[in-house]
Amino acid sequence: MIEVSSLSKRYGNFLAVDDVSFSIKKGEVVGFLGPNGAGKSTIMNIVTGYLSLTQGTVTVDGYDILEEPEQAKRRIGYLPEIPPLYTDMTVYEYLAFVYDLKKVKFPKKPHIDEILRLVKIDNVKDKLISKLSKGYRQRVGIAQALVGNPDVLILDEPTVGLDPKQIIEIRNLIARLGQNHTVIVSSHILSEIQAVCERVIIINHGKIVADSTPDELSRELSNDHSVVLRVAGTEDELTKILSNVKGVQSVNCLGQKESGTLDFVVTPKAGADIRREISERLASRNKYVVMLASNQLSLEQVFMRLTYEADAAAIAAAAKNGKAGEK
Ligand code: ADP
Ligand code: MG
Repeated sequence: MIEVSSLSKRYGNFLAVDDVSFSIKKGEVVGFLGPNGAGKSTIMNIVTGYLSLTQGTVTVDGYDILEEPEQAKRRIGYLPEIPPLYTDMTVYEYLAFVYDLKKVKFPKKPHIDEILRLVKIDNVKDKLISKLSKGYRQRVGIAQALVGNPDVLILDEPTVGLDPKQIIEIRNLIARLGQNHTVIVSSHILSEIQAVCERVIIINHGKIVADSTPDELSRELSNDHSVVLRVAGTEDELTKILSNVKGVQSVNCLGQKESGTLDFVVTPKAGADIRREISERLASRNKYVVMLASNQLSLEQVFMRLTYEADAAAIAAAAKNGKAGEK
């Protein structure tokens, strides 16, 4: 349904999207997950035809977004990060306005009434949008995306700024819409995506760093054999010793957590169990190992690791606390 191939986007000299490819089948509900600034909105704006691309191709149901933009765009309903609501219109007036704008062919009133019911805003249809709560406004935003009954819905951070009750309502609504639509929904919060999506595309610094089901991601984490270490010594000598251990892929120093010691995360090559080698090597160099533990990651932490690789301290803190990490 959507094919994105080698997509790149530059803002001036800044490469915001870097050679991204993915394809989304009809009926899939896919989450774009990534921290702020990852490039989610940029990709969505390009796929929906609102932003030009620097390189690559995007097709929607076979229609190239640059060559046949009208055909492509007709198949997509878009809720941008900042929904284009006209707050001095009533809900019904606004949806009628969007209907005219999109040149929809279905009979007008039944079509709008159906959307009002589906999104559960029929009770506020004669209210001014300016008088609505944030949760209701967001539903109006989703309603405008549904006008014309497009196959694909692209929703950019639809739960941002909502309270927990509203978040659950929007989440349920997305799950419901997913039964009849191809949906792409973005978020920087894993649990948001996990709750509604059968597939997660994790984006960081403009690149796709993972594309899999939430289950597969969980499985990946159970195969994680990286080791968290607390050892007495200097960073240089310890990094050198650890890097030379057979089977070690990478060594990250996380700094001092306890006086006179340093913390490290040591990642093995695929699947290797490096704990024995590490403890023996450090012992043979007379290094005092205060702690050595398997780095058991939660799904939240897998996300953290994929997206905050550079900020290893956050992962270590999370692993240490044995709970979801925070930025
Ligand atoms: P996300 O939606 O994942 O938070 P965005 O796609 O909004 O990320 O932004 C990706 C990167 O591109 C960010 O570093 C952002 O600062 C930059 N960016 C976004 N829009 C513009 C723009 N119009 N001009 C310059 N840089 C931009
Ligand atoms: Mg964004």
